[in-house]
Amino acid sequence: MASAPSPKLSAPLEQGAPPSAVRVRFCPSPTGNPHVGLVRTALFNWAFARHHQGTLVFRIEDTDAARDSEESYEQLLDSMRWLGFDWDEGPEVGGPHAPYRQSQRMDLYKDVARKLLEAGHAYHCYCTTSELEERREAARAAGRPSGYDGHCRELSAAQVEEYTAQGREPIVRFRMPDEAITFTDLVRGEITYLAENVPDYGIVRANGAPLYTLVNPVDDALMEITHVLRGEDLLSSTPRQIALYKALTELGIAKETPAFGHLPYVMGEGNKKLSKRDPQSSLNLYRERGFLPEGLLNYLSLLGWSLSADRDIFSVEEMVAAFEISDVNPNPARFDLKKAEAINADHIRLLDVKDFAERCAPWLKAPFAPWAPEDFDESKWQAIAPHAQTRLKVLSEITDNVDFLFLPEPVFDEASWTKAMKEGSDALLRTAREKLESADWTSADSLKEAVLAAGEAHGLKLGKAQAPVRVAVTGRTVGLPLFESLQILGKDTTLARIDAALAKLAA
Ligand code: GLU
Ligand code: ZN
Repeated sequence: MASAPSPKLSAPLEQGAPPSAVRVRFCPSPTGNPHVGLVRTALFNWAFARHHQGTLVFRIEDTDAARDSEESYEQLLDSMRWLGFDWDEGPEVGGPHAPYRQSQRMDLYKDVARKLLEAGHAYHCYCTTSELEERREAARAAGRPSGYDGHCRELSAAQVEEYTAQGREPIVRFRMPDEAITFTDLVRGEITYLAENVPDYGIVRANGAPLYTLVNPVDDALMEITHVLRGEDLLSSTPRQIALYKALTELGIAKETPAFGHLPYVMGEGNKKLSKRDPQSSLNLYRERGFLPEGLLNYLSLLGWSLSADRDIFSVEEMVAAFEISDVNPNPARFDLKKAEAINADHIRLLDVKDFAERCAPWLKAPFAPWAPEDFDESKWQAIAPHAQTRLKVLSEITDNVDFLFLPEPVFDEASWTKAMKEGSDALLRTAREKLESADWTSADSLKEAVLAAGEAHGLKLGKAQAPVRVAVTGRTVGLPLFESLQILGKDTTLARIDAALAKLAA
């Protein structure tokens, strides 16, 4: 399954082709650690934009002062850069629709809200939460739709005066047209929402703060977004946004309503929707465990899409070349950590060995590495790296795999020691030591012959014979190829460790 990605890219990526009119956006709210669902959305938008030679707008939806933070904003940018995404407009790159942080665009939204009110597309709603709740309950009891009932749609001047005298502060509500809304979702096909199921909705809070329901479509309009690709959880806001778009078009604010495509839900453990709070969904977790961005993106692309039935491993360039939004599968996708790791492992193998060695750097020093910095030996690392590259699922596994090279003594894992050091292990170790002492240390094969011969002398197959040697030298029963490991560690240290193990056995 691990075929190397082919460098051949199809036509849409050819250099010099004119940019298309496609404009898509990635517009997360900076409300904590980025999660994998958000990365999947970013990836699909990015791939769509690049496939069509379009423009990717990166917008920060930070209008919720209570939940957004500067720290989350920085994290978000850092994550996007780490993943390798680029964007054509947005933070750090600017663009014709700057600023791209909604917190810096408040006046724009207030202006649009005022225009919507003036044109009658929106109205002030004075209902209190308890009044709304009461009427909702009554509607439910009577079997009527329980959304907002239009109470304040046509208030008289006298009523408004009375409410104002009572000290009520109104919210601004958008007036939904009294007709069904039908649109063709790029992933799910035609969808119709009946008017009774999409009631008038709030767009500005009583304190004047514009809501997501307003700012998101207003910015899509102002930024001339042509395709909205986002998670299925936002599907129900689409009929509202389409109606708002229509009003904005009438007011000359929007050009045309974008096309919408809703990406499938991602299911986690127990077939439950993967939530932002689920530790498994935190992007940082994957970074810290040493997922390669290309491995993670390859895996996330499979949550709702595939390159072909027989190829799981591919590069983002290949994804870009092949990506069609109509190929996205509307059915929920299952997040499978094992598969993610297997795909990552394949991407680790595809790296150039020098690149692999460099990418391991964070796990070869504090706080991950237990050895003193001065005990790290670059040439030993370079020698062992190719052997490690073919065995890791995630880069963080490198530390335990090479610690025997840089620690003055191996870390003995008790379970491994007990498992490997059986009756007769001391005799075997003594013979192995003898044979290793006279072996040719310029050849790993010669070391293998030595242990093989020691095993034969004690009636043991190679596997059984090498286990005590491995534990004596590396501390563990499993690890990188043993004879190359011994060779890289060196004759003196290897023999000294066997001596130390013999002493430990004798004690
Ligand atoms: N800021 C919204 C979110 O993160 C964006 C939704 C959208 O793509 O329209 O959920
Ligand atoms: Zn009302």
